[in-house]
Amino acid sequence: MSKVEFYKHNLTDEERDSVLQTLSSVFLTTGPKTKEFEETFAEYLDMKYCVGTTSWTMGAFITLKAMGIGPGDEVITTPLTFIATPNIVLHCGAKPVFVDVDPKTGNIDPEEIKKAITPKTKAIIPVHLYGQMCDMEAISKIAKDNNLKVIEDCAHCIEGSYKGIKPGQLSDAAVFSFYATKNITSGEGGAIVTNDEDLQSELIKYRLHGMSKSAADRYSKKYNHWDMEVLGFKCNMTDIQASMLLGQLDKIDEFRKSKESIDNTYRDRLSSLKDVSFPAVLEDTVHARHISTIWVKPDLRDTFISKLQDHNIGVAVNFRAVHLLKYYSENFGYKRGDFPNAELIGDSTLTIPLYPKLTEEEVNRVCESFRSVHEELC
Ligand SMILES: *Cc1c(COP(=O)(O)O)cnc(C)c1O
Repeated sequence: MSKVEFYKHNLTDEERDSVLQTLSSVFLTTGPKTKEFEETFAEYLDMKYCVGTTSWTMGAFITLKAMGIGPGDEVITTPLTFIATPNIVLHCGAKPVFVDVDPKTGNIDPEEIKKAITPKTKAIIPVHLYGQMCDMEAISKIAKDNNLKVIEDCAHCIEGSYKGIKPGQLSDAAVFSFYATKNITSGEGGAIVTNDEDLQSELIKYRLHGMSKSAADRYSKKYNHWDMEVLGFKCNMTDIQASMLLGQLDKIDEFRKSKESIDNTYRDRLSSLKDVSFPAVLEDTVHARHISTIWVKPDLRDTFISKLQDHNIGVAVNFRAVHLLKYYSENFGYKRGDFPNAELIGDSTLTIPLYPKLTEEEVNRVCESFRSVHEELC
């Protein structure tokens, strides 16, 4: 039987044509298409500014840099995330401090954030896991009370909201990923949105070596010397990436609806099985439905994965708890039992295919395969 792919992107002839147009234009790197994407993306989120980057990782890294976070500082985040989230804190020379998650959703628990604050704490990085937003009202209140920055990890969540609040609106910055398997993609890519004009102008410098003028400025205006103002990096979005993203952005709400319907089908058909559950979708949530995960008994999870693969179903794990990975446990002394909710989810979770191109027949096959493996194992 043919494989049900784990993921298929949504690029069409429209995006291909748009890339070809860019390839025939003067600008390949950061130019008019990047500007158009940044404006359109900020507008979609009702935000003032957007800065396009080469990835979430570099976008979040320069955000911490521009905020002056470095050695001696602590940044609170969740262990139930992709390794990029705590890694960027380490790259700044600061210390990631993990706190446990809500066992129902897998999102960072605001009460646990409060307990972890020390005089060294400078920022919080909440992750909107699987596309469901964290409680940003609670998190931004904690941040205000303690004079902390908030940087949202929105790698899973462009289209979501919680209690009407969208990414970026209650934080200092929200960072997005356009990696190959994300909700919209340019293969690799990222963006930062913010309402803070000073932060935006720092980020524009930090993404291009610390230069006071971009290539487009230098090209389109009369020659003026540029200066180097800060020690920056090289992670500016290109017009090739931007031209791929623009068309997808128009269709993003349509994509979300079809993913929601598929995810609900999985939930309807599989959640009544013994020892099988799904992360809760809270009231008042518009869930971006980036990833569909199922929680099974921890001691059966790996066998589930292997048997689903034998059925030719693409599967993945999002995520094993980061603090138990070799580098973090060896260098920071984290151990099993430190964050029991994140550990239990990390040991129970498996991800099944979720994307708009999945056909009804493929969705049926995922459900039937899951039921058949469940019958065999449970
Ligand atoms: C994908 C992902 C990232 C990293 O994004 P890149 O664009 O690949 O750097 C960060 N955080 C989470 C939660 C992710 O899923």
